[in-house]
Amino acid sequence: MNDVYFFGEGKADGSASDKNLLGGKGANLAEMINLGIPVPPGFTISTDICRYYMERDAYPDDLENQVQHSLKQVEKIMGQTFGNFDNPLLVSIRSGARKSMPGMMETILNVGLTSKTIPGLITKSKDERFVYDAYRRLITMYADVVMEKAACIKPQEGEGIREKLDKIMESLKNRESVTRDGDLSIENLKELCDIYKSTIKKTLKSEFPDDPNTQLWGGITAVFKSWNGKRAVSYRNIENIPHDWGTAVNIQSMVFGNMGDNCATGVAFTRNPATGKNNFYGEWLPNAQGEDVVAGLRTPNPLNHMSCSNKAKNLPSLEEIMPEIYGKLDTIQKQLETHYRDMQDIEFTIQNGHLWMLQTRVGKRNGAAAIRMAVEMAEEGLIDEKIALMRVNSDDLDEIMHPMLDKKVEKQSKILAAGLPAGPGGGSGQIVFTADDAESWHKDGKQVILVRSETSPEDVHGMFASEAILTARGGMTSHAALVARGWGKCCVVGCADLQISLQEKSLSVNGITLNEGDWLTLNGSNGNVYNGQIPLEAVNLKKNKYFQKIMEIADSHRKLLVRTNADSPGDAQQAREFGAEGIGLCRTEHMFFDPERISAMQEMIIAENETNRRKAIMKLLPYQRGDFYGILKAMAPYPVTIRLLDPPLHEFLPQDDDQISRLANELNVPMEALNARIEKLHEQNPMLGHRGCRLGVSFPEITEMQARAIFEATAQLVQENKIILPEVMVPLVGSVTEFIHQKEIIDNMAEIVKKETGVEIEYLVGTMIELPRACATADKIAEEAQFFSFGTNDLTQTTYGFSRDDIGSFLPDYLNHKIIPIDPFQSIDQEGVGCLVKMGVEKGRGVNPKLKIGICGEHGGDPKSIRFFHETGLDYVSCSPFRVPIARLTAAQSEINP
Ligand code: ADP
Ligand code: MG
Ligand code: MG
Repeated sequence: MNDVYFFGEGKADGSASDKNLLGGKGANLAEMINLGIPVPPGFTISTDICRYYMERDAYPDDLENQVQHSLKQVEKIMGQTFGNFDNPLLVSIRSGARKSMPGMMETILNVGLTSKTIPGLITKSKDERFVYDAYRRLITMYADVVMEKAACIKPQEGEGIREKLDKIMESLKNRESVTRDGDLSIENLKELCDIYKSTIKKTLKSEFPDDPNTQLWGGITAVFKSWNGKRAVSYRNIENIPHDWGTAVNIQSMVFGNMGDNCATGVAFTRNPATGKNNFYGEWLPNAQGEDVVAGLRTPNPLNHMSCSNKAKNLPSLEEIMPEIYGKLDTIQKQLETHYRDMQDIEFTIQNGHLWMLQTRVGKRNGAAAIRMAVEMAEEGLIDEKIALMRVNSDDLDEIMHPMLDKKVEKQSKILAAGLPAGPGGGSGQIVFTADDAESWHKDGKQVILVRSETSPEDVHGMFASEAILTARGGMTSHAALVARGWGKCCVVGCADLQISLQEKSLSVNGITLNEGDWLTLNGSNGNVYNGQIPLEAVNLKKNKYFQKIMEIADSHRKLLVRTNADSPGDAQQAREFGAEGIGLCRTEHMFFDPERISAMQEMIIAENETNRRKAIMKLLPYQRGDFYGILKAMAPYPVTIRLLDPPLHEFLPQDDDQISRLANELNVPMEALNARIEKLHEQNPMLGHRGCRLGVSFPEITEMQARAIFEATAQLVQENKIILPEVMVPLVGSVTEFIHQKEIIDNMAEIVKKETGVEIEYLVGTMIELPRACATADKIAEEAQFFSFGTNDLTQTTYGFSRDDIGSFLPDYLNHKIIPIDPFQSIDQEGVGCLVKMGVEKGRGVNPKLKIGICGEHGGDPKSIRFFHETGLDYVSCSPFRVPIARLTAAQSEINP
């Protein structure tokens, strides 16, 4: 069995295709070696070993041999020996899972430094400062990762060993009156290492190991264990990554960016991850080790002129300071992007003027950037249109449709402070200072902004719960920025004027003090911070040419049509701008709740006989006709499906005594009579009561009035030379006889209106399929109906026997116990409800192969459900206006990648 994969000096055992076994980091290190890119040699212990270790708490017998063997190869290339006193090799121990989980697991640098190897390294490097700097870093990381986390020691918030050690360093810096880590003297660093070791012994009750092999195996095991660390587990839960994948461990010879001024380290993206612009973009720090950039302890320098933010304007770029190396880096980044055909996120270190690549992976990006990159890469010919479509996901679209700050109000607001624009869009909220507070306030329904000096992976649950994130330190590649971008969250980092007091739960900034619970507003697109609340406004997608282009590409690749659910001309117009090709569901009941109309409606409901009912109902006719006129016109020439009155009538009647007596007055009926009528309408189980087509059967005059309103509006529009296609939809049909009953009324009315107006009207009459019985008898219904539209909300209710309005009381238990995988009202239950949909389609099309079939439930905007409807052979999905672009994209993706 081979569990250890070597890479180094132009040859690697693995390649990019081995991600499952070697993790993303290991597989890509191997791939870079194969491409001839300079990478420090090392080896990867496979994810198999992680799983083995998780199960048995032990390693396979021959693992140690395999590790020794690979270590020898590395030593040979480096001309150094691990643990050798005169010429020691140092290594890093790095985690790396199949899918990147940035910062969620652990890395330890400078492993192999001991009291015995230190003198050797000092002699070789002729740089005592550097050696002790590396040593204090090793002690910190090792104590944190191996001696505390992996040992399952759980300190209180703020009391962790890393925080303790960091505080010691801060106070030493204060004592010496220096601000930068690099200004500490050799003697300071030596003293620091000693204090570190004694603090560790006191706090963790064990000694920092002074033996290279103990360090090595302690580190390997701790990295494996970090797979099951709290933050890694919660990240996987949020990102839906399986818990049984395991991580690989990479052991790699160290290269040093902290050996002086011709050394550096940095992180870069082959394109700008915040905007998508095709610019090499990144940050670097002279004389530093890699962790410094990500940890956000110092504001990093820009990589080149294109990476300059306002804050970093005066800091020198790598392009200026080391032009030759910058040129090499630029060549490599281009090579990597061309090779992987996607934007790469890369890490590099420069040691004494020599460039080393330490990582490449597909870079995280926000929604706007994802769309722009997909479109531009397709235009450049780097990828084809199909791949471009698959590169964008529904969350990306969701995100760019998210609101920005109201520009006018923003202009008038005074800027409180400014940081780096790390995650675009606007966000307002009440400030909190810990991740736990963010989570619990959010649970209480509050809108919060998490404010931290810098975030660490321990904060992810709180970041997730926040509207926006604000940090005092860190750059565009800091942890907060990375995570926020991944989620498309508003985020401002490196806001240096911010002074945070965790004890007081307050912050002060430019003379103003804000306490927990005060409102703050961030603009994550320009980095500005405002006191108080600024309203948000929707984005203008018409002006976003990349969005328009990706939608155009999607439309050319999809067959499934996309309609919208809309009850007003305004919604219809909005949906058309998003690309809707008709209305799949126009609910008529909303039209009755208008104050002017409700009284006519109520009069109709309490009428004791047909004559009075007709009189009342005819008062509604002009309103309805006007509504339909507006909607049909807004959607012309696309079809509009209008559903006849659906909810139980008691929903329109007042509930409390005050309102009842007012209504009695208005209608001039005795209070008792009204009460009696209301009493009579009361139902034990309204969801299964007198509603849907049952109303039309009991009160055909309602159907008549609605049909008349539809056809009169149609006739008028036809006379105005519009192409109008109303589709009259009968709700809640369980047996074909109900449908026949209603269809006759509708057809009769069409004839009457045709005669009265002399206008030829085209229309369809169909039904909503939303009861199991309708699915089972769909063949019979299809003989009469001209279209089907699956009402998957009611179909889910009636299939499961779950009331959508009451599911909240038990759904959390069902999800926790994995009794059902997901809320069936959000994403369709393919196995059960979906089975009925399939049956309905097969039976319906069996009788009428051309039967038009759509879906108009909430599921029409859910990507997973849309894929299912595509597979099932539906003609269209209908969803709320803001989901239309998502449905268009998903429809194309289901075609490309079934
Ligand atoms: P993460 O997965 O959290 O990014 P990494 O394993 O990439 O963690 O390591 C953290 C930092 O340490 C990175 O900046 C990386 O470039 C740096 N690093 C890791 N291994 C080495 C090495 N062998 N030599 C120099 N720097 C290293
Ligand atoms: Mg990394
Ligand atoms: Mg329904």
